[in-house]
Amino acid sequence: MFALSAWNLGDWRFDLLLLAAGQRYDADKRACSQDVFSCSLNQPNQFGLTYVTDSQTLNTLPSGLYVVATPIGELMDLSPRAIDILRRVACIFAEDTRVTGQLLKHVNIKARMVSFNAHTEVSKTAQVLQTIEAGDAVALVSDAGTPAISDPGRALVAAALQADVSVIPVPGPSALATALSVSGLPASPSHFIGFLPAKGGARTEGLETALAWPGTLVLYEAPHRIEDLADRLDTYAMGRTVVFARELTKTFEQIICVESGQCADWVRTNPDRIRGEFVVMVGPASDSGVKTDLDVDRLLKTLARELPPSKAASLCAEITGLSKRALYQKLTDRS
Ligand code: SAM
Repeated sequence: MFALSAWNLGDWRFDLLLLAAGQRYDADKRACSQDVFSCSLNQPNQFGLTYVTDSQTLNTLPSGLYVVATPIGELMDLSPRAIDILRRVACIFAEDTRVTGQLLKHVNIKARMVSFNAHTEVSKTAQVLQTIEAGDAVALVSDAGTPAISDPGRALVAAALQADVSVIPVPGPSALATALSVSGLPASPSHFIGFLPAKGGARTEGLETALAWPGTLVLYEAPHRIEDLADRLDTYAMGRTVVFARELTKTFEQIICVESGQCADWVRTNPDRIRGEFVVMVGPASDSGVKTDLDVDRLLKTLARELPPSKAASLCAEITGLSKRALYQKLTDRS
């Protein structure tokens, strides 16, 4: 018996109706019987559903590595299919078992969890594959978002594919796609580099190389480096649009579009702006006008051949309308 809340649950509603009719839902590898979920409006969880676990008989999932995306903020973004898989796998390999434990608690799942993080990925890959080869279905999750995207998991997935072990994606939130979808910038072509190197010449070089790719550049950045990144974008991404996507799907979500040259100002205007998580995107270099990165670079270098740096920066600022400080920094600071 079940009752369904009035929430719009899309296909899930259809699945539940099938279950109510005692029918079996069996799409590809995702089989579940009427016993898997009973839902009651009497004790709804935050999804408006209560999953009854004690009397359920779980159909066995086909063995394999289920790569399961989890929310990047809003817990309701955990998909019904992700809940189903996480409930039914023999073991969840989690980046941080405490973080995943909190998530599982929200959906009333008690599962066996094993830590699987960047430090243990190599040593534990064999264990994961052995578990699957013994016939089990296991899930891989990270703290937030899609595993293996700037998160542990890539080497495990590669090893599984190499060993002919089934790898099954369970898609859902990713900061990358979420940010790009609300940036107003072209998604194709786009170039995702994850995190830049933390400091020094490698950071500058990494940014310059990334900015030279055509299309939109997408970066992840930690809050304690966002000011530094803003400074560098003002210097190296001249003439390009920058979008800061902060705290996506969370209470203080912000999506801000500025022109390069205004990044540092935007970040520093309010101390709250350096808090939280960021995806930073840089729009493609325009192919018209003097304010493209390449043209500005050439102009600046030409002026600097004849003039002292501060005069060259000042003249270049007058011609392009860009910040003199950023141009001067571009000339003098290569680290
Ligand atoms: N695998 C994850 C994914 O697919 O979203 C990303 C993991 S990476 C270690 C974490 C970074 O993703 C953060 O430092 C931040 O740059 C970005 N991020 C994660 N959640 C975010 C959010 N809610 N808003 C903005 N950026 C976020």
